Amino acid sequence: MAYIVLARKYRPQTFEEVVGQEHVTRTLKNALKEGKIGHAYLFAGPRGVGKTSVARILAKALNCEKGITPEPCNKCERCREITEGRSVDVLEIDGASNRRIEEIRNLREGVGYAPANSRYKVYIIDEVHMLTNEAFNALLKTLEEPPPHVVFIFATTEPHRVPATIMSRCQRFDFRKLTTGEILKRLKEIKEKEGIKITDEALNLIAYRADGALRDAEVAIEQLTAYTEDEISLQDIKEVFGFIDKSFYIELIKGVIEQDDRKIISEIENIFEQGFDLKEFVVGLIDFLRELLLSRLDVKNPFSIEEDPEIKRMAGSTDEDNLVAMLNLAVELERSLRYINYSRAMVELYLLKMARIPYIKKVSELISGAEKGTPSVEAKKGEPEPPPRIEEEPLTGEKLWERIKEEILKKASGGLRTLVNSVVFENFDKNEKRLLLSNPRKTAHTDEHIFQIESVAKDILGYEIRVSITTPVQEQKRDERIGKGLIGHPLVNKAVKLFGVEDIY
Ligand SMILES: [Zn+2]
Repeated sequence: MAYIVLARKYRPQTFEEVVGQEHVTRTLKNALKEGKIGHAYLFAGPRGVGKTSVARILAKALNCEKGITPEPCNKCERCREITEGRSVDVLEIDGASNRRIEEIRNLREGVGYAPANSRYKVYIIDEVHMLTNEAFNALLKTLEEPPPHVVFIFATTEPHRVPATIMSRCQRFDFRKLTTGEILKRLKEIKEKEGIKITDEALNLIAYRADGALRDAEVAIEQLTAYTEDEISLQDIKEVFGFIDKSFYIELIKGVIEQDDRKIISEIENIFEQGFDLKEFVVGLIDFLRELLLSRLDVKNPFSIEEDPEIKRMAGSTDEDNLVAMLNLAVELERSLRYINYSRAMVELYLLKMARIPYIKKVSELISGAEKGTPSVEAKKGEPEPPPRIEEEPLTGEKLWERIKEEILKKASGGLRTLVNSVVFENFDKNEKRLLLSNPRKTAHTDEHIFQIESVAKDILGYEIRVSITTPVQEQKRDERIGKGLIGHPLVNKAVKLFGVEDIY
């Protein structure tokens, strides 16, 4: 990493100076006060939030010449050599580049020797989840019988990849992402101390974009001070980090809200032509949609980058449900892009999907309408593509049942109505003149109900049939949810084609 001077300079040297991890530092301090020293600690949490900093402070707390203390002096030789990274007894090992068994064997050999001039030998293994299985096994042997003078501190961003056998021998501490407010506070301190010229908006943006990782924010400030000697502005940030200008998003989302597919495609073309980083683009899209949503909800975003009347206007032109669904799709897009290569097609697909959200909403209204027992499904007047009436011939199979149901619902009430709405068509055997219905919701019914269904069927068919209702052991959840009546409905069919089955059912 090219820019680490600031981050190093402002690295916390005491537990008090650690930002945002009080739940960890307080526990560690109390344990140190009582002289309770573990043999192995696991620090889990996202990158850039202070795991290795706390590990070093802990190493100092154990080895300070003052004695084991929650407040290492930072002045004695032991403390200073740890700060400067030259202690022979405090070893920092990068798990990613020392992941093989040979390295862990070397480590195990070293573990056998007493510390050279400290109380404890401290092994800080960063990104410990990167170790190979063999290396973990070798490490485990040491952890099973740890020499009294050795303390392991493992740090990891992916604790789920650390074997349970290792985990169970560690005291685990979970570090959390910092809030934007915490990062901002720290950045302001650095700004004051270093006399950095930077606008408040720019500082806000850096804090916000650091996404909980203080170190990233510190590194960003440093890069910017190298970039310009003038006051750092939003424009500088955009230039250095390639943030996509908000006007791109405004045009793109305008296309989505207006359901203008051509505009969407051409705006994406535009963004790709500028050579923006795709991930950056999608992260920016999520931020933008979030800002729209907050504006729509009239929630003041304390870290809002610019008050933009265009955002306000745009938020007013759609509704919350729509924005939540769009945001949801954007997050899904971000996730999908991690695993695939044909990313541009994916971006287009998701934005076109966004433009179709009002449409899918209509379908789900239809579905819930059917669940409530609306006898027939018809789009409201004035809306596009009113579905044709379900045709009446030939009356076989499910269509027959739909017809019977429709007829019954015209006049039935109470138990029969509930029953007819909750049973699900299974099959109709024309030769045996049998209609089989299943009753997944176990709705109570009587022979009289069945007789009434049979009599309506006779009116329609002109001959008598037998109706049986069975209660299946297995619940048919999907059928219940959609209401059988809508399967095959033209709007639903179209939606299934557009969005895939799972989105609809
Ligand atoms: Zn000391």
